Amino acid sequence: MYDVLIIGGGVTGSAIARELSRYDLKTALFEKGEDVCSGTSKANSGIAHAGFDAAPGSWKAKMNIRGSRMLEELSRKLDFPYKRNGSLVLCFDEKDRPHLEKLLEQGKKNGVEGLEILEKKELLALEPALSEAVVCALHAPTGGIVCPFKLNIALAENAVVNGVEFHLKEGVLTVEKADFPEHAEGYRVVTEKGSYETRTVVNAAGLYGDAFHNQVSGEKLHITPRKGEYCLMDKKVGRLVSHTIFQMPTAMGKGVLVTPTVHGNLMVGPTAMDISDKEGVDTTAEGLDEVLKKAALSVKSLPKGVTITSFAGLRAHEDGDDFILGEVKDAPGFFDAVGIESPGLTSAPAIGEWMAERVVEKLRVTKKVEEKRDFQETRKDIPCIASMDPAEAAELIAENPAYGTVICRCEKVTEGEIIDAIRRPLGARSLDGIKRRTRAGMGRCQAGFCSTKVMEILARELGIPLEEVTKAGGDSRMLTGGER
Ligand SMILES: Cc1cc2nc3c(=O)[nH]c(=O)nc-3n(C[C@H](O)[C@H](O)[C@H](O)COP(=O)(O)OP(=O)(O)OC[C@H]3O[C@@H](n4cnc5c(N)ncnc54)[C@H](O)[C@@H]3O)c2cc1C
Repeated sequence: MYDVLIIGGGVTGSAIARELSRYDLKTALFEKGEDVCSGTSKANSGIAHAGFDAAPGSWKAKMNIRGSRMLEELSRKLDFPYKRNGSLVLCFDEKDRPHLEKLLEQGKKNGVEGLEILEKKELLALEPALSEAVVCALHAPTGGIVCPFKLNIALAENAVVNGVEFHLKEGVLTVEKADFPEHAEGYRVVTEKGSYETRTVVNAAGLYGDAFHNQVSGEKLHITPRKGEYCLMDKKVGRLVSHTIFQMPTAMGKGVLVTPTVHGNLMVGPTAMDISDKEGVDTTAEGLDEVLKKAALSVKSLPKGVTITSFAGLRAHEDGDDFILGEVKDAPGFFDAVGIESPGLTSAPAIGEWMAERVVEKLRVTKKVEEKRDFQETRKDIPCIASMDPAEAAELIAENPAYGTVICRCEKVTEGEIIDAIRRPLGARSLDGIKRRTRAGMGRCQAGFCSTKVMEILARELGIPLEEVTKAGGDSRMLTGGER
C-alpha cells in the first residue's frame, strides 16, 4: 500500500515528489516516457516569469509569485542554472500605453516587486538592439531565465535520493476508487506493468491530466494542446539582448519573445495555435516564419541564418484558463495539478510545496506522518568542465582523465561528464537523456559530430549492443539495417 502515487514526471510531478520526500511516506511516481522531463517541461521558453500577467487572485498569479521568489535559493540548493536577467514588455504605439499601465497595476496587485515603465531613451540605453519603433516598456527586474531540463532533473534526482520510487517507462492506464479493508478508502492504479494500491493519487500528467481526472470525477475537465514553435539561435548572437523581451500579451498567451538562454544562446518564439493532437510537436515553415517576423519587430537587425534548431512545445490549456490545484471534490484523496500551462515552469516549486502540504494534511487524518530527520535538501550537479576554473578542472582531470577527453566539441562536454550523467541516480539512458543532463549535442552542430561517440559510451556503460542505443527510448534506435 502506497501513501501517494504521482502520475507524471514533468517539472510539476517532480517538484511535488521532492516536497513529499521530506516526509516519512511511501511515495512513487509513474512516468510513461523513458526519462523525466519528456513532456511539456522539455519544450518551453525557460522563463522564470515575474508574475504580472496572471489575473490577481488566480492560481497562476499566486503560484507564479511564490515560485519566482523560491527559484533563486532553490537553484543554489539543487545546483541548476538560473539567472535573474529582468524582462521588458514592449509597447510600440502610444495608444497601447494604457494596456501597459494596466499590466503594471495588475503586477503590483499580484505582488511583483520593482515594476516600472521605462521610456524609449532609457530603453535604448539599456538594450541597444531594441527596435527604434519602441515607445515605452514595462520593466520587471525580478524576471529570470532557467534551464528547464536541469530544473526538472534536479527536482527528480533529489526526490529519488530522498526515497521516492521513480517508475520510468511505466504509463498509467486507469485510476479507480477502491475500498481497502484496513483503510476507509483509496485508489487502485493500473499501469502498463502492474496494479498498485494507494491512499492518495496526485495527477500531474500534463496534457493528459483531464483524462485521469475524468476517470474519477463527475465534473469533467477538458485540455486543449496549444502549440508553440521556436527557433534556437547560435551562441554568437546570444548577447544581442540581455533582458527577456516580450511584446504585449494577447488572449492566446504572452506573445513572441526574444531572450537569452541561461546557456548563452538566443531564443525566439513561441507561436500559439490550438491543435487536436496531444503529441503534435512538429514544427512548420509557417510557424517558424511567424516567430522570426514577429521577433524582428522587437529587435532591429535580427541576424539571419543563425538558427541551430527549431522545436515545438504544447501548453496544456484547460477550458477554465487557470491552474486546477487540489483535492477533487467528488474524489477524496485524488489531487489534481491540471492545466499547468505557462507560468507552470516558474510555479513548479510553489505547486510542489503547496500540494505536498495538502496531501500530508489529508494523510494525517488517518495516519501519523513525520518529517524526516535525514532529508537531504541539497544536491550537486554534474561538474561542467567548460565553465570551471582551470585549476579546478586540472585537479579533476588529474583524478579522472575522462574529464580531459572532450566528446562534444561545440559545448565542450567531456567523457567524464557523460559517464556521470549515466551513473547518477535516475541516470541517462538515451542520447536525449545525456543531452539534457550535460548539453552534449545541444551546440551548433546539433550532435552531428558527437552522437556516435556518445552512443559508444552509452552502450559500454549500460552493457547493451550499440544497435540498442536510442535517441529517446522506445523504438527511436539510432542504428538500423546491417546484418543481425
Ligand atoms: C510553448 C510553451 C512555452 C512555455 N514557456 C514557459 C515559460 O517560459 N515559463 C514558464 O513558467 N512556463 C512556461 N511554459 C509552461 C511550462 O512549460 C509547463 O507549465 C510545465 O512544463 C508543465 O509541467 P508538467 O509537469 O505539468 O507537464 P509535463 O512536463 O507535460 O509533464 C507531464 C508528464 O506526464 C507524463 N504522462 C502523461 N501521461 C502519462 C501516463 N498515462 N502515465 C504516466 N505518465 C504520463 C508525460 O510523459 C509527461 O512527462 C511553457 C509551455 C509551452 C508549451
